[in-house]
Amino acid sequence: MTEVSEAESSILERVSTLDTLTISLADALGTVLRQDVFADRDHPPFHRVTMDGIAIAYQDWVAGKSTYQVLGTQGAGMPPMKLTETGQCVEIMTGAVLPKGADTVVPIERVKIEDSKAKIDPDTSITERQFIHSRGSDRVAGSQLIHTGSRIGPKEIAVLASAGYAQVTVSRLAKVAVISTGDELVGAEEPVKPYQIRSTNGRAIEASLAQHQLAQATRVRLKDERTKMLSSIRALHHDNDFLILSGGVSMGKYDFVPAVLEDLGVNLVFHRIEQRPGRPMWFGVSDEDKLVFALPGNPVSTLVCLTRYVLPALRQALGLKPVNHRMVTLGEDVEFSANLTYFLPVKLSLSNKGLGTALPRPTNTSGDFLSLADTDGFIQLPKGQSHFKKGTASTFFQW
Ligand code: AMP
Ligand code: MG
Repeated sequence: MTEVSEAESSILERVSTLDTLTISLADALGTVLRQDVFADRDHPPFHRVTMDGIAIAYQDWVAGKSTYQVLGTQGAGMPPMKLTETGQCVEIMTGAVLPKGADTVVPIERVKIEDSKAKIDPDTSITERQFIHSRGSDRVAGSQLIHTGSRIGPKEIAVLASAGYAQVTVSRLAKVAVISTGDELVGAEEPVKPYQIRSTNGRAIEASLAQHQLAQATRVRLKDERTKMLSSIRALHHDNDFLILSGGVSMGKYDFVPAVLEDLGVNLVFHRIEQRPGRPMWFGVSDEDKLVFALPGNPVSTLVCLTRYVLPALRQALGLKPVNHRMVTLGEDVEFSANLTYFLPVKLSLSNKGLGTALPRPTNTSGDFLSLADTDGFIQLPKGQSHFKKGTASTFFQW
């Protein structure tokens, strides 16, 4: 049996990064950036006025001038006007370029304009360069604005647009086949006999991949028939980058998945992990370097293995940085006697210090996925210990 950390690293070291494609910025939301992004100009690109008002030379105000000759009006998007003599001003709008010869903006609320004369209220206090967002004060041209491996959200779209990236290089989305195996399984939309169960794993896996924006999934259900299973999985292996199976990896007479995967030429990396739930997990790599995750069918095991091992592998394939899992403290004492790593479902509550407290929500068995509905994720409690005191720090994995 393999230990949890060893299972994790032997998966991650086999992940290859997906190819990139260049797409229009309009289609980039939710994709993973695969290029560094640089400023093509200073930000702001000119001394930007931040108040509607008048632009003056501060020296004139210091010299005691309160009435100015208005040369004209300059709005955002207009080339800068120029003060040529003392006592002149330009009526100026937010977003405009600071006129040449001006260095200070007085808000319109402090000014009265009549017959091309602007009179500043004498009680106004004015500081030099007020209401000017200086050229290059945010970033200078050439600075790095976003790093490769960032998920593109609205903020990143804004930065990309500001730097003139009409096209961006992003990761291709992973194609994943989600395969549920089991003679007992029927779909949610089908009639169900008393001895059958509705398949939940395929939908949960597909939903998790979609929620985390990691892959484009094809969901299929297969019977426990070795020959048919082999031909179906062969075709799915051909058409996809990753296979995620559930069920059929234990010791039962109809648990054909490991044998079928080996028939297909998938090379076993490990089978069984020293953990609960999810001990029977099988993992291998095909000759075409495609990763094959065969998760145990019990729904709690499936989701734990998916979250703990499969999602990080897909993130890495897309070029995303690994998730920084937060530490939480245990909200109650926990007993666990098996000599295995224990993945305990929890509900998080935030203490007044902002630290997460993990409230244990153990399931009845690894088949009791109904109890997961009110949980946020699970914590990892180390193998070789049976008492975990309230307040123990542990790593939290969000669903
Ligand atoms: P297995 O890993 O195939 O031995 O299945 C273990 C348990 O999980 C059995 O009780 C199965 O009926 C159940 N199970 C397997 N696959 C699914 C699925 N797709 N949805 C819900 N339960 C499943
Ligand atoms: Mg089965």
